[in-house]
Amino acid sequence: MKTNNRYKIITFGCQMNLADSGSLAALMNISGYEAIESEEEADIIIINTCSVREKAEERVFGRLGDLSRIKKENSFKKIVVVGCMAQRMAEKILERAPYVDIILGTDQMFALPSLLDSDNHTPQVKTEFGFEEFDDITPNRDYKYSAFVTIMRGCNNFCTYCIVPYVRGRERSYSVAKIINQINGFTADGVKEITLLGQNVNSYDDEGHKFPYLLKRLADDTDIKRIRFMTSHPKDLSDQLIEVLASESKLMPHIHLPLQSGSDSILKRMKRVYTYSHYLELTKKLRKSIPNISITTDLIVGFPSETEKDFEKTLEAAKTISFDSAFMFRYSVRPGTAAARFIDDVPESEKIKRLNTLIEVQKKISFEKNQSEIGKVQSVLVDGYSKRGEEYLKGKTGGAKTILFPGNADIIGDECYVNVTSADSWTLHGKLVE
Ligand code: SF4
Repeated sequence: MKTNNRYKIITFGCQMNLADSGSLAALMNISGYEAIESEEEADIIIINTCSVREKAEERVFGRLGDLSRIKKENSFKKIVVVGCMAQRMAEKILERAPYVDIILGTDQMFALPSLLDSDNHTPQVKTEFGFEEFDDITPNRDYKYSAFVTIMRGCNNFCTYCIVPYVRGRERSYSVAKIINQINGFTADGVKEITLLGQNVNSYDDEGHKFPYLLKRLADDTDIKRIRFMTSHPKDLSDQLIEVLASESKLMPHIHLPLQSGSDSILKRMKRVYTYSHYLELTKKLRKSIPNISITTDLIVGFPSETEKDFEKTLEAAKTISFDSAFMFRYSVRPGTAAARFIDDVPESEKIKRLNTLIEVQKKISFEKNQSEIGKVQSVLVDGYSKRGEEYLKGKTGGAKTILFPGNADIIGDECYVNVTSADSWTLHGKLVE
């Protein structure tokens, strides 16, 4: 048995980071390390970091500041930083937090168990890109009945505002066989729903086998009950994908399709390589083929050179397309991206004003969309108790909406039918259908 083997992973950022943390935890466990909840008692504290916005990076530095106290009291404790910030700014991390022992970039984090086993002196820094294949591990997960499955890593698109291609490298797809293998591991362990993850799942390519092929194989050749995926880039959303979505009942009727802006000139400066009318056409095709589909999106306001008119086009797009929900952000410069060379000319106060206006408009749209669900019966995977208390259960509808309803614990983990009885902008409420 190893000594000083208890570890704690703290995860910042997106689902991809949650999935990476789950894989890292599984690897740590099979290498003889033991996960514990308490940071104070852990021998190894691992922070999986996010670089998508400056705020996220500052939160990590804040957390590292807190950990310096724990480290002073116990210098045997190891502090490890992995993920996007480790990839992007290893030197800066060592400068601001010299007590960090190991820094591992996005493709190197899985080397952690062997580095901990070696007698190498710290600090150690590894940030090379390289593809990791794990055929035999079933990643840890936060929920018993649903899991993330990473199907590809990296991105080739270089949208001008985005740091991801620099911190996660070029696109690499896992093989269809490996993905099936991982899903089989999950279903054997009780998982009913998976979410396939990639920065741009629509460009998945396993030696010529594209994303619609993968989806069909997963629907046909695994026992998984419900399949979701994210994120889709509008430039690669093919008719074949829409056909598979429409015909396979295991594929949930939801697509997250980032629009980012309703203005073509801003889309061009963002290097999104589609126009608003192309995007609009896609949403029409999706709704024609899958009438109950829920469409969610990402929108950025205050991108360099965005005029009031450009912003109005985004507002108009939100109203015309009527998104079920949206993640909305105000633009902030990411050093190292192409847009960092543009003049950040929309004043902060104007960005805040535009963001608030957009949020209000979207809130109304989400309310109306959710109201239109009232009276409909939804298939729901029940994933646990609501935060409101144990008399309410919660689950996700096919359209990825959270629904709360009274029920007994013995149906947690089941797929049930729930009649929607009321709704606000964020949540549906309902009653179990016997
Ligand atoms: S598609 Fe664009 S926004 Fe998405 S990860 Fe790649 S570069 Fe970033």
